[in-house]
Amino acid sequence: MANHGSNGSSDDLTFPLEIPPAKIRFTKLFIGGEFVDSVSGKTFETIDPRTGETIARVSEGDKEDIDLAVGAARRAFDHGPWPRLPGAARAKIMHKFADLIDQHIEELATLDTLNAGKLFSWGKAVDIPSVANTLRYFAGAADKIHGQVLKMSRELHAYTLLEPIGVVGLIIPWNFPSTMFFVKVSPALAAGCTMVVKPAEQTPLSALFYAHLAKEAGIPDGVINVVSGYGPTAGAALTSHMNVDKVSFTGSTEVGRKVMQAAAASNLKTVSLELGGKSPLLIFDDADIDQAADLALLGVMHNKGEVCVAGSRVLVQEAIYDEFVKTLVEKAKEWVVGDPFHPNSRVGPQVDKKQYEKVMSYIEHGKREGATLLTGGKPAAKKGYYIEPTVFTDVTVSFTGSTEVGRKVMQAAALSNLKPVSLELGGKSPVLIFDDADVDKAVDLALLAIFYNKGEVCAAGSRVFVQEGIYDEFVKKLAVKAKEWTVGDPLDPTTRVGPQVNKTQFERVLSYIEHGKREGATLLTGGKPAAETGFYIQPTVFTDVKEDMMISRDEIFGPVMALMKFKTIEEGIKYANNTKYGLASGIVTKSLDIANTVSRSIKAGVVWINCYHGFDIDCPFGGYKMSGFGKDFGMEALHKYLQTKAVVTPIYNSPWL
Ligand code: NAD
Repeated sequence: MANHGSNGSSDDLTFPLEIPPAKIRFTKLFIGGEFVDSVSGKTFETIDPRTGETIARVSEGDKEDIDLAVGAARRAFDHGPWPRLPGAARAKIMHKFADLIDQHIEELATLDTLNAGKLFSWGKAVDIPSVANTLRYFAGAADKIHGQVLKMSRELHAYTLLEPIGVVGLIIPWNFPSTMFFVKVSPALAAGCTMVVKPAEQTPLSALFYAHLAKEAGIPDGVINVVSGYGPTAGAALTSHMNVDKVSFTGSTEVGRKVMQAAAASNLKTVSLELGGKSPLLIFDDADIDQAADLALLGVMHNKGEVCVAGSRVLVQEAIYDEFVKTLVEKAKEWVVGDPFHPNSRVGPQVDKKQYEKVMSYIEHGKREGATLLTGGKPAAKKGYYIEPTVFTDVTVSFTGSTEVGRKVMQAAALSNLKPVSLELGGKSPVLIFDDADVDKAVDLALLAIFYNKGEVCAAGSRVFVQEGIYDEFVKKLAVKAKEWTVGDPLDPTTRVGPQVNKTQFERVLSYIEHGKREGATLLTGGKPAAETGFYIQPTVFTDVKEDMMISRDEIFGPVMALMKFKTIEEGIKYANNTKYGLASGIVTKSLDIANTVSRSIKAGVVWINCYHGFDIDCPFGGYKMSGFGKDFGMEALHKYLQTKAVVTPIYNSPWL
């Protein structure tokens, strides 16, 4: 017998079990459609948390490998077929990918068990089949990505296009190696993005296998790249990479903060920022030159150029260039500088001295850098901040100068290349159990909330609040039923709690248990390692927990429940919300009134009423507060990988024509 009760001794343990032959076929980085060694040639060990033994050495990606992977993804996005394929064609390949996963369920479930200590039975029955379905769900959306037609005033016709955001960096944690891979990869694929995935260093094996299946399914080279490696090296290189257009991160709040900082220092747009621009206007050979010159001048001179969308870079096709320049010089004169109150003025003064001096200094820069001043270039009045409408020709985009200025140019470029980030972070989720609940059912739910996947679940219900009327009965029953959560080898179908993922996590959870004891909480069940080898911990419940104790504040990410009592509904809500996190929550009650009141008052991304861990690919999932922002799952996830472009054009008889 491979299992034992949660508090039993480890004498009768026979695990680890004989495992199916370990098929660890892929241990190298997957870049541009090939499995390759890391540039440094370095590898790191992957351990089996059931034994603590090394089961494979995997290539250790670093900055250079991230550069190569981002380069491959960039080429695949800019020149490859994937973003250009009709949605239905992308969907077809994604369906094939899903079918291949179905054909390898056992092998994939084995990898996640060997690598993360996840229950094999669960992986085989639930995790792996559901990732195939996640792919199918988003494949179904690939041909339904469309913008809107807008009814505009002033004889304009406009519509929006939804376009793939570009190269995305996907960083995932170890607790659901397969699920996390596909909640990010599937919508990104459907959107037409290309990507670099950085799996957690603890669990790279299934991600590398998925890369192989993606190739077999026909996903073009460079669309999915997988770089295994550590967070501070490979992960940080990905978040700060200038050629990555978006980062989607799932992991801890602490690292989430670092990801935002790194991306901010490189090219990050956080939640939604509307910032400045240096917009181009492209004028083609077949354009009406008069009209084009008018538009070009309007584009940049309107509101004296103090417009975020100013068309400040005008690119003219060569055949009409000379004639365009001549026309432009003539027409520029029509842009009369003058007092903004005067009806004939078309260009008023700059907004203040600072802006005026800034513009003048750019003009001086332009001259020094060798551009030719076609018109303007000087102050337009003796008083006030008036500047002549100015046009430079012979502008080149390359830069030659001192290292110092070059650095500034690079910084400016970095600041102009902002990429969005979405973060799925940690939690310390509350479960509120009210007096009218069926106590047996409530106990079962509370145990499931915390012990499922050995507590290594971001949404784990780790703080359980029970109303005083049923508290004593609840505690008694909980102590008995907790023993049903048998600890054992995850390959054994009767096991309910496997080992923690690695030694660090094992020691971390045990140290929180010691903290709990020292802080004065009472150990109701568990509290010790559950075996002599491997990283097994007894399912643990503390009572007499106070709100300010570490075990009630910090995310432990292990099988440790903090149990507390509350009196009124208001008090329950207050306790539930007394956390920096806001990922998930649970309510157990028969009263519709309580359920509705509490679900509106809890600050969390999901409220489970009379259930827990009820996930579905169609249901948006993501946090409030410091649990992050942006949703995985549901159609909202697809939109993380798309961006909206507005296209505006005059219609028949418009004054614009
Ligand atoms: P983690 O934050 O330590 O690591 C997550 C990923 O980030 C890993 O791939 C890691 O290598 C990488 N990383 C680490 N440092 C980095 C850096 N400086 N720059 C870029 N990347 C870096 O988290 P973990 O221990 O792997 O996972 C557990 C955490 O994830 C828990 O807090 C859990 O709640 C959270 N989680 C959240 C969700 C959710 O949907 N909200 C889901 C699963 C897990």
